[in-house]
Amino acid sequence: MYFATYQIGDYDSCDIGILNQEKTKILPLKKIYDAFQEREDLGKCPQDMQAFIEESDERLIRKLSALANREEMRLDAVPLEDVKLCAPIPCPRRNIFCVGKNYLDHIQEISDAFGDRPEVPVFFSKVAHPAIGHEDFIDSHPGVTAELDYEVELAVVIGKEGKNISKEEAQDYIFGYTILNDVSARDLQRGHSQWYKGKSLDTFCPMGPFLVYKEAVHLDIESKINGEVRQHSNTKHLIFDIPTLIHILSQGLTLKPGDILATGTPSGVGMGFDPPRYLKSGDTVICRIEKIGTLINRVR
Ligand code: MG
Repeated sequence: MYFATYQIGDYDSCDIGILNQEKTKILPLKKIYDAFQEREDLGKCPQDMQAFIEESDERLIRKLSALANREEMRLDAVPLEDVKLCAPIPCPRRNIFCVGKNYLDHIQEISDAFGDRPEVPVFFSKVAHPAIGHEDFIDSHPGVTAELDYEVELAVVIGKEGKNISKEEAQDYIFGYTILNDVSARDLQRGHSQWYKGKSLDTFCPMGPFLVYKEAVHLDIESKINGEVRQHSNTKHLIFDIPTLIHILSQGLTLKPGDILATGTPSGVGMGFDPPRYLKSGDTVICRIEKIGTLINRVR
């Protein structure tokens, strides 16, 4: 089941919707509520994806999925080409939780600059306020950085509050998955000792195009720059898998609905080449993860 946050025309605010099975149209969630709110006891229509994640449960989501597939809802669906896709959660309540050095091949390519294979996950955080969406521009920040880089990552969106979560329970705390490009200014990362600044410039968090409910296991993950494949791997190669990350991160730290955990990037980033191949204005960055979709951004 695929959810999207989107805008139509110049309309300022975002709506949320469900993608049809052919992935060609979006059905606005509010249309389902208009038609079935009382008959199906749906409660109130959530204002945005954050509210939807907080207020929904498995039972409601299965019900909405069934209702969205009803013949009578077909006329209310909007063709995908008529909408502007936003980040699934355009303004996350908290910084993105990120994991560095979580694919072995990526550690090997960057080991000179940022150290060796970790014994425990390397957590850091990244400002994404707002996160940008599919087809939005990544700012090259001339004069601020000369080493603009890309990192395709599988991102986990937390569905319910929890602390000290066991690996076995971790799945219950996941709402779904999306693609996140952990755009990075390598010179700022090195220069400031901590990665926070170099990961947090405006537009450095493209996310989307969809938020896919729950089911995701081992997925092919890749990035292309101007059509050339740079990163290609599979999430089965994560050093610390998703249940382990949730287990360790939640020790003494309460995770909340709408929290986003970016799980790390495989090899093939710009700084891994000799000489490095950083992004420049005009480049097109394509991030693709099997069963989630394709997130495309250009560099301005
Ligand atoms: Mg990263």
